[in-house]
Amino acid sequence: MKATILVIEDNEKNAYFVTFILENLGYQEIQARDGEAGIALALQVKPDLILLDIQLPVLDGYAVARELTRDKELHSIPIVAVTSYAMHGDRERVLQAGCVGYIEKPINPATFVAEIEQYLPAGKRSNS
Ligand code: MN
Repeated sequence: MKATILVIEDNEKNAYFVTFILENLGYQEIQARDGEAGIALALQVKPDLILLDIQLPVLDGYAVARELTRDKELHSIPIVAVTSYAMHGDRERVLQAGCVGYIEKPINPATFVAEIEQYLPAGKRSNS
């Protein structure tokens, strides 16, 4: 069984693009359009990985990451931030908030898959 990946992203175009890549690789993909909905869905589904946009309505990605990593049922799920912020210090900020990794937009399909799959157990990757 390949991984279930939760994508928390408010931008339709970005969400569509990520869906296209993940579903082509055979991943189960679920989506939320804001931070609060993302946390609710994470609790419900317990995904294997969370891709988290930082600029989000309702609750921004930093707050979402902090809340997820404080939850006793969710704290071990890897969270990878996906952000267009290119400001110095952002990487440190997302890691401090509890994310394990950081991917910059625009997403590069050539490197995106390897970047996220390093956080998935070997048996749940697309090539397994
Ligand atoms: Mn956004």
